[in-house]
Amino acid sequence: MTTNRISLTELESGTPFEHRHIGPDHEAQAKMLAHIGFGSLDELTATAVPDVIKSAEALGLPQARTEAEVLQELHGLADRNQVLASMIGLGYYGTFTPPVILRNVMENPAWYTAYTPYQPEISQGRLEALLNFQTMVADLTGLPTSGSSLLDEGTAAAEAMALSRRVGKVKQGVFLVDADCLPQTIAVIETRAEPTGVEVVVADLSDGIPAEVAERGIFGVLLQYPGASGAVRDPRALIEQAHELGAVVTVAADLLALTLLTSPGELGADIAVGTTQRFGVPMGFGGPHAGFMAVRDQFARSLPGRLVGVSVDADGNKAYRLALQTREQHIRREKATSNICTAQVLLAVMAGMYAVYHGPEGLRTIARRTHRYAAVLAEGLRAGGVEIVHDAYFDTLTARVPGRAAEVVAAAREAGVNLRQVDADLVGIACDETTGRAQLAGVWGAFGVHGDVEQLDAAAAEALPEALRRSDDYLAHPVFHQYRSETAMLRYLRTLADKDYALDRGMIPLGSCTMKLNATTEMEPVTWPAFGQLHPFAPAAQAQGYLTLIQELEERLATVTGYDKVSIQPNAGSQGELAGLLAVRAYHRANGDEQRTVCLIPSSAHGTNAASAVMAGMKVVVVKTGEDGEVDADDLHAKIEKHRDELAVLMVTYPSTHGVFEEHITEICAAVHDAGGQVYVDGANLNALVGLAEPGKFGGDVSHLNLHKTFCIPHGGGGPGVGPVGVRAHLAPYLPNHPLQPGAGPETGVGPISAAPWGSAGILPISWAYVRLMGGEGLKRATQVAVLSANYIAKRLEPHYPVLYTGPGGLVAHECIIDVRPLTKATGVSIDDVAKRLIDYGFHAPTMSFPVAGTLMIEPTESEDLGELDRFCDAMIAIRAEIEKVGTGEWDKDDNPLRNAPHTAAALGGDWSHPYTREEAVFPSGVEAAEKYWPPVRRIDGAFGDRNLVCSCPPLDAYDN
Ligand SMILES: *Cc1c(COP(=O)(O)O)cnc(C)c1O
Repeated sequence: MTTNRISLTELESGTPFEHRHIGPDHEAQAKMLAHIGFGSLDELTATAVPDVIKSAEALGLPQARTEAEVLQELHGLADRNQVLASMIGLGYYGTFTPPVILRNVMENPAWYTAYTPYQPEISQGRLEALLNFQTMVADLTGLPTSGSSLLDEGTAAAEAMALSRRVGKVKQGVFLVDADCLPQTIAVIETRAEPTGVEVVVADLSDGIPAEVAERGIFGVLLQYPGASGAVRDPRALIEQAHELGAVVTVAADLLALTLLTSPGELGADIAVGTTQRFGVPMGFGGPHAGFMAVRDQFARSLPGRLVGVSVDADGNKAYRLALQTREQHIRREKATSNICTAQVLLAVMAGMYAVYHGPEGLRTIARRTHRYAAVLAEGLRAGGVEIVHDAYFDTLTARVPGRAAEVVAAAREAGVNLRQVDADLVGIACDETTGRAQLAGVWGAFGVHGDVEQLDAAAAEALPEALRRSDDYLAHPVFHQYRSETAMLRYLRTLADKDYALDRGMIPLGSCTMKLNATTEMEPVTWPAFGQLHPFAPAAQAQGYLTLIQELEERLATVTGYDKVSIQPNAGSQGELAGLLAVRAYHRANGDEQRTVCLIPSSAHGTNAASAVMAGMKVVVVKTGEDGEVDADDLHAKIEKHRDELAVLMVTYPSTHGVFEEHITEICAAVHDAGGQVYVDGANLNALVGLAEPGKFGGDVSHLNLHKTFCIPHGGGGPGVGPVGVRAHLAPYLPNHPLQPGAGPETGVGPISAAPWGSAGILPISWAYVRLMGGEGLKRATQVAVLSANYIAKRLEPHYPVLYTGPGGLVAHECIIDVRPLTKATGVSIDDVAKRLIDYGFHAPTMSFPVAGTLMIEPTESEDLGELDRFCDAMIAIRAEIEKVGTGEWDKDDNPLRNAPHTAAALGGDWSHPYTREEAVFPSGVEAAEKYWPPVRRIDGAFGDRNLVCSCPPLDAYDN
């Protein structure tokens, strides 16, 4: 038999990754192009993208590589990271992620590809998991209301400062921070305090509040418990003194320590903040991990971030939802008090599950063992003549070795252990869940002492103060007791995941959120120990793999966006916005333009824009959006004129929030520049631009982009995220930096935006891998197919639903908005009815009522194949026909499949009194019975949940009727 000869080179390239990432193949693309009347992708985007913004040349990125090659490169980078036993402490600890959680949550697409639970009926699993998290935090901190999740401990403390100022009695005065708080927390607080005119005073509060500070007025106090030095102090007297002065007291607490120590709530604190990292979430060189905040009852309604609550569904059954959803902070725009949007849901789920799996006894045992190691370590050091500075500690010791600290730390490093050099004389040593005997010997050796663990264990006393021993019960809810065996835990995780709809079931066409493929190759390195187990303050020499990856990613993102410099430190889009605006502010001030504080924001902008602007000390001036969805040019010019001398910046989303390529963008940028302002292009959603246009070239001075949208970091059910900020050269000196890692930003920077020097470094391999796998051409093709798919959907739906906005050539960009308002008006079928009915058809609804009420914004992304796009269009068209039946009176106005959607399996039982059939309810056109997704609850009554706010696990009998 003979075959044609084929070269090795051709065979070696295998299937390009691009064909795995992009859903529609050539044939499908040709069909879709024909449907919308174009001959090629290039022809399509040549028409859709305005000439004035088009890139002049192809992206200068390295050639695409295969999945096997990229994994090999990643292994090479991982090999250049050195994982030592970490005893640095400072809020980051070694932890053992139970493998059942590692594989079935962190590595499980049913959890990591889910969207934020705005559609609660298809999110009951993750909402329950988050309620576990809230219950855990509330119980351990002794404060009744906890949200589900802030971005990290440092920003949580900064949010507490803002909350204290808002809710406290004292409206003036300073924010007083104890000197034994984590240094990165203090730095994050200072970054945020300055632009809002808050003065931060850092002082040693171990002897109470200094009189000269008290005289100035204090609106809030922050304490660390245990302190950064490891010291455990009884803060009761201090809290009382602060309360007498009218201050709100925040205690930054360590959850593991709280299993043994009296809770902040019982000590009198008003707010508790911290991180849940050591509850089974790898350090990841700084993140992502879930920060937390818990508060007294009276502050519950002012809590920043998301809050899960309990409500009821249409049948009166218990159901979870995001509570006070309409009050979600950033949605209040310039009246918002926090800009938090994407948080750390996946990591919160992991930490909550860690507590579920271990239960209170298991956690207590881990805490006692950790404490015991510290006590034995201290005993050995003392026996060898080393002074231990504090008598009361939990897991962290400060050892005094005059003049020898550097030498001791170096010797420990030789022995495979990282310690913390506090200064020339002091060494910090933190124990954790992973500490072992061999490690103790290494530490003793570094100090030049020898210890015998058995003997020292017999001799060492406990070092927790008697007066602070925890005596109350916690984690009493059955969920923290039922899943001790791995089989039980596995099934619990599976049961919850099965309730939810994530990308592993079908498309999630969420406009503005870009729910695209999160490829397995991209995800794999995240859980490799060489990326997972690095401490963010580990010496740079041990993180060469990471530092190379970070530098390459920053450079490649700069190439993609056309900016000169990128910082990946911000750990969400909102944080990128704040970082970018702080850079603008610093730039104006450096030019002597302190008065430039006005931030122009179009009314259609994402809510975080205005919230971030306020946090950056700016005054928001709203610019009108025209009928066509574009920024109203007349209003813009009028506002520029009016605020000419105070104009700091215009924040504009591109492509516009309405999903179109605005043609006037370059004129808009020029007008702002002409008035001395800067242009902030919100590039959170860069999926219509990559490879086609560069904001840094078409007029932007600064942008953030969301790696959890365009660059494949999974949404995680509402986080993690990474929101890099890119700037032109004149703003580069004002990017974020970090006090503990000088290499993490410019010396002249604005301070840290995140607690960790490189933010959520642990998930950067995902975006690095994506760029490497696609290459410049592949990235461009992804953009083109994203534009193609959006236009295909717009074209297919147009005869049935009006498409609200289009740009050049009657085309949309990467998403389209369809208008349901006329149908609502004519038939009474609401946008909610359509969204919930989509669940019956096996879909996640598109973005609802943003940016225009009563509409759906659909973003298919390049990853959905033609079959799935058609299935979605067919469902929307079938729903349109159903609406017609309501309109004509064939179906009852109040009792029809739309109004009653979604339908559960339980709803089919018993009497069926509806004027439509069971089949019409649950197997509408196109739904295969064998492949049906069954929502676990009926439509949820949001108002009930807000009136009866319950934000921790309810007792099991609470909802029996
Ligand atoms: C998603 C988004 C944001 C906010 O990003 P987060 O990561 O959720 O903070 C800001 N602007 C736009 C246009 C977005 O789409």
